[in-house]
Amino acid sequence: MGFKIIIIILSYGFFKSFPHSSRINLLQMQKKELLKTVLENIQTKVSPQVYNAYFCDINLLDIENNILTIACKNAFTKQTIEGRYYQTLLGSARKVLGNDNLELEIIIKPSAVTSTSPIKPAQLFSTATTSFQKSNNFDDIKKTQSAFLNPKYTLDSFIVGSSNQLAHAAALAIIDSPGNAYNPFFIYGGVGLGKTHLMQSVGNEVLKRNPEAKVLYCTTEQFLNEMIQSIMKKTGMNFREKYRALDVLLLDDIQFISNKEALQEEFFNTFNTLYQSGKQIIIASDRPPHEISHLEDRIRSRFEGGLVADIRSPNLETRVAIIQNKLLERNEFLPDSVIYALAESIDSNIRELEGALLKISIFSKTQGTITASDVKQLLGDKALSKRKKINPLDIMSKVCEELEIDLKDVKSSKRNYDIAYARQICMFLLKDMLNLQLIKIARHVGRKDHTTVMHGISKIEKLLEKDQDTARLLQEIKSKI
Ligand code: ADP
Ligand code: MG
Repeated sequence: MGFKIIIIILSYGFFKSFPHSSRINLLQMQKKELLKTVLENIQTKVSPQVYNAYFCDINLLDIENNILTIACKNAFTKQTIEGRYYQTLLGSARKVLGNDNLELEIIIKPSAVTSTSPIKPAQLFSTATTSFQKSNNFDDIKKTQSAFLNPKYTLDSFIVGSSNQLAHAAALAIIDSPGNAYNPFFIYGGVGLGKTHLMQSVGNEVLKRNPEAKVLYCTTEQFLNEMIQSIMKKTGMNFREKYRALDVLLLDDIQFISNKEALQEEFFNTFNTLYQSGKQIIIASDRPPHEISHLEDRIRSRFEGGLVADIRSPNLETRVAIIQNKLLERNEFLPDSVIYALAESIDSNIRELEGALLKISIFSKTQGTITASDVKQLLGDKALSKRKKINPLDIMSKVCEELEIDLKDVKSSKRNYDIAYARQICMFLLKDMLNLQLIKIARHVGRKDHTTVMHGISKIEKLLEKDQDTARLLQEIKSKI
């Protein structure tokens, strides 16, 4: 997100008023911070071994015209990243920068990476694993180091408001009595609202109180990959035993399990093993259990059998409190009027709020002063685009225009391929862009219940995995709305 803003602002010549040296400084600082965030994101996706081998020595050189240029130190690293981790890097960069059009260019430039090796895992993650008990099974976990928790995710730094009160209260109860209070605990909510932060806080706090506790945080993707490996290498027992040894399992982004029917059986067994032995399971997802498509009923009902709590977008007061707390942590000061202007401009996602705060505090440092109107100007494009509220009809009309289908047909019961495809694209975009409830989407496309929508969305999700045309079409439509 940060980069997008920088590009926009630079192209408007906004920074022309900056003294030249501070302009350079500003960009370098931004680059460093942004690279750090991208790398943090990558660390949640790849094993520490992979991270150390390929991502420790890359540097962010430039961003221009939506192309992010990354320097790496040799041809081998370049080839490996391009061949195997390109999507990981691109996905992380797009996510952190909030720019879906971003592309990557990887170049070999040892001089740009040797001295600036940006960030090592030890700087990012606590050495929580050192306090783990030395059992054989758990040594395995130590080996893969997948138990890493990010030490910055603590309860102290988690601001509580009406949007996350229930989830927070449940987290406290779980810390007091892991495995007994709410099991499983299922947290869901939109991107950047604090699910990972909250679940990792529980892990950190449990470990603080009981250093012997065996806590593991992993994303569902990592979990599934490991499961596949264990099936392929016929080490299923080790896999299950490893998880059985845990006291607390924190499983992030469970929505990725949708459509992976073959793996759900194995997942169910692992889940049950843990559950039946009273081990705490915390699951995070971007949607509630009943909206995860192609999820076996017995798994869904297990998820729903514990506590399901959502985290919503924070209100103004909570956003202000989050900003104040961040400033306190960084020992920085900004006038109240500036804090409010910022909290008013960014009203959905806390990750975006943090990005905007970073930008503003850098501005304030380089200029020596900042006012509320500077904030409005700095975030102007963002605030403006937020004001232009997109409505469902805009999306559906654009889809129909692009596919040359009559909107009436999309809402009708007609089932020809072209119409059904347009209808599914509409469903997908209404969810993706507006995060509408499935039942509301159903009404927009003239359907009665949410299951049709669920199937429609999952059809497009499946297509996206292999069909470039659908991906391009979606990009095209999004860019025109
Ligand atoms: P999610 O997992 O829901 O996408 P994250 O947990 O990664 O979101 O949160 C995004 C960012 O916002 C993180 O840097 C996190 O520390 C911060 N954040 C989220 N919720 C809160 C909160 N309630 N108080 C303070 N910071 C928060
Ligand atoms: Mg998350």
